[in-house]
Amino acid sequence: MAKVIAFSNQKGGVGKTTTCVDLAAYIAAKGKKVLVVDMDPQGNASSAAGFFERTGKDSVYEVLTDEKSVKDVAKESEVKNLFFLTSSKDLAGAELELAQVMIGRERVLDEKLKEGKEEYDLVFIDCPPSLGLLTVNALTAADGVVVPIQCEYFALEGLSQMMNTVKLVKKYLNPSLEVEGVVITLYDGRAKLTKGVVEEIEKVFGDKVYQTRIPRNVRLAEAPSYGKPVSLYDPRCAGAQAYAALAEEFLERIEK
Ligand code: ATP
Ligand code: MG
Repeated sequence: MAKVIAFSNQKGGVGKTTTCVDLAAYIAAKGKKVLVVDMDPQGNASSAAGFFERTGKDSVYEVLTDEKSVKDVAKESEVKNLFFLTSSKDLAGAELELAQVMIGRERVLDEKLKEGKEEYDLVFIDCPPSLGLLTVNALTAADGVVVPIQCEYFALEGLSQMMNTVKLVKKYLNPSLEVEGVVITLYDGRAKLTKGVVEEIEKVFGDKVYQTRIPRNVRLAEAPSYGKPVSLYDPRCAGAQAYAALAEEFLERIEK
């Protein structure tokens, strides 16, 4: 049965989507079958994998509104073994529609994944930068949450709110939810403040912090505009190598 991992941080632009897609691509390349669920109406994960033209049709929107099953809409990407439930702007509407559901609105994704996830080794969920119902659905469906944190001043600001949401979901909806790991992103070893920021993150998250740090690397930012994960776009760049190393570390930890 697939392990389900949500990539979440309510802060915008910290590398959730980049980490979700590029890590998934390296794990798929190792022969694991991975499904990425794009739970962000922005659809960045979908376009990063080449799914540029999207409507609510055959998307995660139809899965959440119960018109279709995961099997109906999962699409294979250019990377073998890497599948997507793409998102569309309609997904913002799904969040509003879910809010009207009186009972079980936090569990819709979990229920839908139950019948679809046995086909995969891992399911990655890319969350939007908010703590609304889409994120709560993702956390309710997940076994673990990976928190990408941008290595900058105020990196931890707002994170207590996010950790509180994880705590509440664990208490009321999903007792087995754990923090799977913390990824330090946009890392610049030369910047003066870096050491202090890393120390602060490690003080809070201890050994949950992955040893692999993701450097600031322009190739990582370019790859999505070509609709390719960095493993296809430029496997030699420093960013690609970091995500390849993170894939090793991630699998080692999860298989323990
Ligand atoms: P959002 O909260 O909007 O969903 P996010 O947390 O998913 O954002 P990303 O979309 O992954 O963050 O990254 C934000 C921007 O920074 C993107 O343009 C991305 O290409 C770029 N980026 C991400 N990681 C790196 C990196 N290590 N080096 C350089 N650019 C990066
Ligand atoms: Mg994103």
